Order: sequence, then structure tokens, then C-alpha cells
Amino acid sequence: MENYSTKEIVEKYGFKFTKSLGQNFLIDDTVLLDIVEGAEVDKDDFVIEIGPGVGTLTKVLLSRAKKVCAIELDSKLIPILQEELKEHANFQLIHKDALKVDYKELIGEEKSVKVVANLPYYVTTPIISKLITEGYNFKSLTIMIQKEVAERIAAKPCNKDYGALSLLVQYYCNTKILRKVKKESFIPSPKVESMVIRLDKLEKPKAFVEDEKLFFKVIRDSFSMRRKTLNNGLKNLGLNKEELLEAFDKSGIDPKRRGETLSIEEFASLSNEIYRINK
Ligand code: SAM
Repeated sequence: MENYSTKEIVEKYGFKFTKSLGQNFLIDDTVLLDIVEGAEVDKDDFVIEIGPGVGTLTKVLLSRAKKVCAIELDSKLIPILQEELKEHANFQLIHKDALKVDYKELIGEEKSVKVVANLPYYVTTPIISKLITEGYNFKSLTIMIQKEVAERIAAKPCNKDYGALSLLVQYYCNTKILRKVKKESFIPSPKVESMVIRLDKLEKPKAFVEDEKLFFKVIRDSFSMRRKTLNNGLKNLGLNKEELLEAFDKSGIDPKRRGETLSIEEFASLSNEIYRINK
């Protein structure tokens, strides 16, 4: 289903797209509705939208949420958004890089906070990583991202897409792919296919971890050379051969396994044993 308002607004203001800002605007109403319905936005929600573009998704969000705060970096879009959304008393616009926003201050006392966005693809991973690891009070993130990144985020052990990004996101969130989106649903059409994915923040991380920095280093080292067994990949963690074997033994993990076969819980117990031996 085509949405005429995006194209009309772009033409009305003579807006010129900036490729380096990841500007691919949605023109498909079905996708817009699937994003908002997938996010289950309702009247109690404070919604943060990153990269509102000309405000197409923003308008649908404004009709359902208590308040929508949109963060846009491109100064050319600020007057357009101010004009097009001036009727909405529940709209707030922040002209800033989404990676530099103080989300703690922005959220304040809000209880039901949801992020909903068609993300600029050049900063997908840093934005997701910032939002989920810095301890903000979000309920969920419902975001459109590149198909291959969505598949990596949602992948389970032994799948070819499973890696450090899957573990980072699944440590903090439950993940659910909501739908695929064709290139033709955007102007201009991006080079890659897209997907809408929902990340529900867990009350506490998926596994008990003594030292998160070490946990993520163990994960990174385990995947740095995918073909290597764990025994060979984990040589730079400050343990000698015997100590490393002891960590494998105590966590019940065969050192000949490869990183891509380990669950979050197994990485947690292996890194906890390494932490105890190192202490
Ligand atoms: N929400 C609109 C839509 O769905 O049609 C536009 C989505 S477009 C993929 C991404 C938007 O993010 C653009 O408006 C772009 O200017 C904005 N943007 C790019 N980098 C940004 C950043 N670092 N912080 C905030 N917004 C950014």
C-alpha cells in the first residue's frame, strides 16, 4: 500500500536526500502500521524515535502514544518536521546525533518507554549497542535494520549467522523478527533488504556473569577466528595451558568445541571459571 505523504512532503520542500546519513524514507503504509503494531504502542507509552525523516512514521506514532520524542541529526529536516507536525501537542523534537543524546535525562521519570525507528543503517550497531548496554529504562526497541544484521542479532548457536553480536543483544534482550521489507518500500531504494525486529529488554541479563568485560572478551576471542577450537582461540586471557584446561573442565565444556556452538549460559560459566582462576 503506497503512502503518498512521504513523496508529497519531499517534493513540497524540495528536500534533497543525503546518502551518507542513511536517508531511505518509507513509502509503504502496510510497513508503517506493522512497525507500530509490532511495537504495541499505546496511550501509556513514551516513544523515542531515532531519525524521523519527514515524519511519516512519527505521525502514526503520535496518534497512538502518550508522547513521541524524535531525534534527528539533519538540520534540513528540522523546519520540515516542525511545520508538518505542529498540530501535535505530544511531539518533541531534538536536533542531535542519536549517539550523543543523554537518554537518562530524556527518559526522566517515564515508566513505559519504547524505541521505535527506521534506523539509519550506517550506525545501526553502535545505536543498538548504546541503547541496550547502558542500562536505560526501555521496555523494547522495535527497529527496521538491514536484513543481514537482523539475522545476526536473532541467530541461535550453530547457525552461520551466530556470533558476538547475537550474544551481545541476546544477553540483554529477547529478540523477535517481525517481518521482511522489500527495497521498493523506500525512497530512494537501498541496496540491501531490510527487516523489522523487536528487542524486548530483559529485567536482568540472560545469564549470571561475574565480570562482563571478561565475558565479552571471551566471546570476541572465541569468534575472532571461527575455524579455531576454543582451546586455540582463548590463549590471550592471562591463563597458562593447565589453568585454561581447568576452566574448561570446571565449566563442563569440551575445549575442542568451536565458539559458534556455545550458548550464552555456557559462555557465562566458562568466563566465570576463568575469572575465578585469574583472581
Ligand atoms: N523515519 C523516516 C522514515 O521511516 O521514512 C526516516 C528513516 S531514514 C532510514 C534515517 C533517518 O535518520 C534520516 O532522517 C537521517 O537524517 C537520520 N539520521 C541519520 N543519522 C542520524 C544520527 N546519528 N542521529 C539521529 N538521526 C540520524
